Amino acid sequence: MRPPRANEYRDAWCGELDASRVGETVRVAGWVHRRRDHGGLIFIDLRDRTGLLQLVFHPETAPEAHAAAEQLRPEHVVSAEGRVVRREEGKVNPNLATGEIELDVGTLDALAESATPAFPVDEDGPVDEVLRLRHRMLDLRREGMREAMLMRHTVVRAMRDYLNAHDFLDLETPILTRSTPEGARDFLVPSRLSPGEFYALPQSPQLFKQLLMMAGYERYYQIARCFRDEDLRADRQPEFTQLDLEMSFVDEDDVIGVIEGLLARVFEDAGFPTSAPPPWPRLTYDEAMLRYGSDKPDVRFGLELHDLGEELAGTEFKVFAGVLESGGVIRGLNAGARELPRSELDALTEHVKRYGAGGLVWAFVQQDGSWRSPTAKFLSDEQRDAVTRRLSGRPGDLLLLVADKPLVAATALGELRLELARRFDLVPEGRHDAVWVVDFPMFEWSETERRWTAMHHPFTAPVGDFSDPGALRSRGYDVALDGVEIGGGSIRINRPEVQQQVFDVLGISPEEAEARFGFLLEALRYGAPPHGGIAFGIDRIVAIVAGRDSIRDVIAFPKTASGADPLTGAPAPVDGAQLAELGVKVTAPPRT
Ligand code: ASP
Repeated sequence: MRPPRANEYRDAWCGELDASRVGETVRVAGWVHRRRDHGGLIFIDLRDRTGLLQLVFHPETAPEAHAAAEQLRPEHVVSAEGRVVRREEGKVNPNLATGEIELDVGTLDALAESATPAFPVDEDGPVDEVLRLRHRMLDLRREGMREAMLMRHTVVRAMRDYLNAHDFLDLETPILTRSTPEGARDFLVPSRLSPGEFYALPQSPQLFKQLLMMAGYERYYQIARCFRDEDLRADRQPEFTQLDLEMSFVDEDDVIGVIEGLLARVFEDAGFPTSAPPPWPRLTYDEAMLRYGSDKPDVRFGLELHDLGEELAGTEFKVFAGVLESGGVIRGLNAGARELPRSELDALTEHVKRYGAGGLVWAFVQQDGSWRSPTAKFLSDEQRDAVTRRLSGRPGDLLLLVADKPLVAATALGELRLELARRFDLVPEGRHDAVWVVDFPMFEWSETERRWTAMHHPFTAPVGDFSDPGALRSRGYDVALDGVEIGGGSIRINRPEVQQQVFDVLGISPEEAEARFGFLLEALRYGAPPHGGIAFGIDRIVAIVAGRDSIRDVIAFPKTASGADPLTGAPAPVDGAQLAELGVKVTAPPRT
């Protein structure tokens, strides 16, 4: 960091002074982090954005400053001038960047006092999260938050630097707009000038970025705020930040190539080492589901899934035979040499049931190759040996099998795999892996809604024949880091008749399409270039590279899990006159 412009408050940053500056007279400013009195001497750790500096006050040489220092309490704001001196032998603090030196203060200016903080700012110990959010300004002063905010800046700066250097244009799109179809519920804003009508906050800049491509502004990006009114699952925010980008005259390799370069740069600047440099592996959706039971596979550890249909074909075991006959699958994994008690096997069974599986078949491979398993007696020796071989089972290994509908079996085993990794600590320390997932199905059948829905979004280009929507693939791609989806996008539809075909499958009539997306369909009729793009969850990426469990810890002013902001009190009632002006009548009872 450049030194600050010298003024009456300071001419140096606290955290950047070191032994090379010994003998210099400098002025620093910041907050009293901590004060210690030591037999006449007063020590103050002064904090600014860059870190901590120890100030020392001598009663003999600087009586006035010493007297003023006696009045200081945590979080008071001061400016101090003094000489940079080397700390006494034995007083060096190797944990502090400025630990070799201290500032021998000559003059002290007290600039502002502080009430007693609701929790200590000088330590990073656990504090109730609502209390932290209620006093977020104080919380942001703590070291953990400061590191997270600086990391957030580092990540966003790396993104901007990379994209600016690769000819991208940084353009904004509206916040007050119409519903955009990312599949979540919209936040609505009533219009005062058109009573009874509403803006929607964008779920993403999707349609606008496509319009920018059609308008010829190829290579666009934006650090964009997105709004989705979902029932908040753990660690979701109603508003979140995406890196959104779009390119024209490109195919999948072009977009993926740009993103790999960009993420490699982000990880480098963030000091986050991935296990392999790009190009990162690409798995098809089918392969990811088959091998990892997930479309955001965590490939940092083994325990891959295997299909056992061939090995168990013709089985007389009723449960397996029934599943195979009804189009289901039997898949399994080798959990390795583990002697688990019955209670743990039961817990694993409960785990797969949570993901819809009927049950879990377990078997320990014994010395002679036979199985210790309640299921062993239902299988022939050949079937049992074939399964053991397929799963590379050796004596002592625990084999785990699920028989169910393909998606249920995949998901249940995929989640079981993650659970085993957690329980047995299988992820190698410091390992980080990015993978792409490609060739997604275009549509998913929704049992609850009894209709097709788009797996990415309806503007994703399809591949294949529309006579069987379930078999159509899309030109979508997602990138997962350590088993977390951090970004996703696609090559888009650029011809109006294809767009209508997709709407037809989704049950959106031409009239409805015209009403909701007329502006896009019209733009498609005026010469739309082939285009594609992607969006990344910045909050999530920062949380991963900063090693935080919650995205709330990398957002300066986040909401609680129920969408509230304890700091400002939002959401809050508004007065009747304001509602009347908007033509809005509230019928719901107020929150208690
Ligand atoms: N708009 C999409 C999303 O927010 C990403 C994309 O297709 O570019 O998930």
